[in-house]
Amino acid sequence: MPIQFKCQHCQTGLEAGDGLAGKKGACPNCGKEITVPKDDSKPQSEKKKTGKKD
Ligand SMILES: [Zn+2]
Repeated sequence: MPIQFKCQHCQTGLEAGDGLAGKKGACPNCGKEITVPKDDSKPQSEKKKTGKKD
């Protein structure tokens, strides 16, 4: 599942494969260096149990 994000410079909507999460590349629109964000939308949260209830 591709990661959808926006260029940090020109705000163009971009997509990158899972394997590119956290990696850098060049924006196809403005050519500046961008960093692919890690996909944190996955349900596999790693919340630590603190005993606190919501
Ligand atoms: Zn850009």
